[in-house]
Amino acid sequence: MRPIIIAGGGIGGLAAAVGLARKGVRSIVLEQAAELGEIGAGIQIAPNAFHCFDSLGVGDQARAGAVFIDKLRLMDGLSAEEVVHIPLDEPFRKRFRNPYAVVHRADLHGVLLAAARESGLVDLRTSHKVERFEQDESGVTVHCAARAPIAGAALIGADGLRSPIRAQIVKDGEPRVSGHTTYRSVIPTEQMPEDLRWNAATLWAGPKCHIVHYPLKGWKVFNLVVTYHNDVKEAVAGVPVPVEEVMSGFAHIHPRAQKIIEHGSNWKLWVLCDREPVENWVDGRVALLGDAAHPMLQYFAQGAAMAMEDAVCLSHMVEAYPQDVEKALRAYQSQRIVRTARVQIDSRLIGEFIYHPGGAKAMVRNEIMRSLSAQDYYDRLEWLYGGTGLTEAT
Ligand SMILES: Cc1cc2nc3c(=O)[nH]c(=O)nc-3n(C[C@H](O)[C@H](O)[C@H](O)COP(=O)(O)OP(=O)(O)OC[C@H]3O[C@@H](n4cnc5c(N)ncnc54)[C@H](O)[C@@H]3O)c2cc1C
Repeated sequence: MRPIIIAGGGIGGLAAAVGLARKGVRSIVLEQAAELGEIGAGIQIAPNAFHCFDSLGVGDQARAGAVFIDKLRLMDGLSAEEVVHIPLDEPFRKRFRNPYAVVHRADLHGVLLAAARESGLVDLRTSHKVERFEQDESGVTVHCAARAPIAGAALIGADGLRSPIRAQIVKDGEPRVSGHTTYRSVIPTEQMPEDLRWNAATLWAGPKCHIVHYPLKGWKVFNLVVTYHNDVKEAVAGVPVPVEEVMSGFAHIHPRAQKIIEHGSNWKLWVLCDREPVENWVDGRVALLGDAAHPMLQYFAQGAAMAMEDAVCLSHMVEAYPQDVEKALRAYQSQRIVRTARVQIDSRLIGEFIYHPGGAKAMVRNEIMRSLSAQDYYDRLEWLYGGTGLTEAT
């Protein structure tokens, strides 16, 4: 088989390359940036993401850089009282056959990059900005800015939220700007208020705003992610901002939570975007993967996990139909589309009903969430954390 071309060298694109390499399939990864890398922030890794690392043969390396937190903790941002916590101890790990952890994005990306390089089957090309594709019955041709066309057996668009490959297949224009703005900072652990240095992924939920923090990098630093609704209409990413701008969305919450933001530094903002789930992201020899296929708000902390699940599924399908790549891509989509659409939809709902409600809605949230046992939470998460969504046949 000629190589499969992958547009985008993010977590999804690299996971796809590693997955294909494990099945003996060569790939060419085309990344627009001059260097392969990830932003310097944290990411939550649920058991379904660890199942993917195991499947991609990098489970031990991913675990080596992880902080294994004890609980997911929900704090009421107005009263500063704990609403509930979900324990992540042995019963959780036993139930889902893997832990819940937090890792630094660059470490995670680095694990996949090393595996891609070591495989000898992945041709990594930076400074390749993909613009469009053509295809016929024998293969695809990918056109990049100021480069000669590149031919392959198939094309995977793992090129993120504004994928030009998606534009050609789905034709659904610009992403939906949510009007929620996220600010990120990573601070040395000694700058984190001592009484909040919890071994937990902690969410402070307030009306139209929230704060998330957890330890990273062997407890050397804390990851801070704070979000509020400011109804901005324009999507921007990674822009440095002063702390005063960050604080302005949190004047109404408890001083104990506000203090966390004061300790942040080098804040950068992202305006959050997603898209409506769609029924098709495959066209012949071309398919989408990760955020290009199903971009979601971050409230379920599952975007990268879904991209990795896609990658695992794709590699299984290419292996299952070695003579028929179009059939493989259709099978891949049919396995992935409902699960990823569900996470997209749930991510919006979680934002509305858990992260950002105020008034009576927040009281209802607290009452419902307090009434559930750890077992209840595990049961509700079974569909997501219990596997990777692949059917038995694969
Ligand atoms: C605040 C926040 C917190 C999050 N937290 C979590 C979490 O805890 N857990 C989790 O699982 N997920 C989380 N996510 C989601 C996760 O970050 C994304 O879903 C995931 O990174 C998507 O990976 P991807 O490879 O599909 O896309 P991307 O990471 O966007 O990668 C796309 C790659 O393609 C490249 N590219 C783009 N256009 C072109 C082109 N034309 N030609 C060539 N290359 C191109 C880009 O440079 C990039 O390298 C969070 C997201 C946000 C915003």
